[in-house]
Amino acid sequence: MKNKDSKHSWPVAVVTGASRGIGAAVVEELLALGWSIVGIDRSIAGVSPLSHGMQDRAAMIRGDVRHRPTFDRAIKVAERLGRLRGWVNNAAIEMPSRCHDFSDSAWKAMIDVNLLGVALGCSAACRNFLRRRTAGSIVNITSIRAVAAFPSGFVYETTKGGIDAMTRQIAVEYGHRGIRCNSVRPGCIMTPMTRSEILASKSPQKLLRQLKDLHPLERRVGQPHEVAALVAFLLSSKASFISGASINVDGAATARCYPYPPDESLL
Ligand code: NAD
Repeated sequence: MKNKDSKHSWPVAVVTGASRGIGAAVVEELLALGWSIVGIDRSIAGVSPLSHGMQDRAAMIRGDVRHRPTFDRAIKVAERLGRLRGWVNNAAIEMPSRCHDFSDSAWKAMIDVNLLGVALGCSAACRNFLRRRTAGSIVNITSIRAVAAFPSGFVYETTKGGIDAMTRQIAVEYGHRGIRCNSVRPGCIMTPMTRSEILASKSPQKLLRQLKDLHPLERRVGQPHEVAALVAFLLSSKASFISGASINVDGAATARCYPYPPDESLL
């Protein structure tokens, strides 16, 4: 994949929500594997994952995934770096909401960022792959909450389930053109989003314990690089026959249907 002679030989991927958390880990992983990267984030203040001497292979765009021009700019920059081959729709927000009293503002905010933002990203990627007549791979970050309900997740869960459906539709619609589309469903991953949720709770220590206990595997939360590894695999040619799939990175959280305690004799 690597080619020292021409930067135009590097495959390029666009990653949304690239400034921190899972998005930043995906950028780091892809750069290490030889991809060029265009990161998009509404905030690029502070330490950017792209600022470590990688300027020839990486660019960061300040932009909002709710707006089409953000993606037009990203594509232009991507085409300067090389041939666009990968696309990761990762940016999302989470606000508590329940069915009986959700607000219009929470509905609109999450539908716009989590669902419209991913739809616009997929659309920009597909348009480019079709126009350039290239194969390409799209990875959408959803959540185990696409398939399992959590308290006060009425709108968030709705958006994540919608992205999984969108993923399958794209995989089927464009499969004959060599476009693959998959989604990755993380369990609880320790990122700034998770840290804020823990800190905002009445009992942070208790919530952290509950979040760890959610995952039978080692009763811990996941780390961003553990999601990034799967994203990178799905973007790569090693995943050449995987499309329309939604894959959990959740330490077996969704494999368990009720929170039974671990066997004391095995502790
Ligand atoms: P995070 O909040 O730490 O990072 C998200 C990034 O997206 C931020 O840099 C933010 O600025 C950017 N962003 C938000 N809205 C944007 C917009 N409108 N336009 C451009 N950029 C925008 O989140 P994270 O925990 O790293 O989550 C990343 C993805 O993983 C999300 O899709 C989230 O739903 C999903 N996920 C996270 C967890 C978890 O436990 N952290 C679990 C399941 C799924």
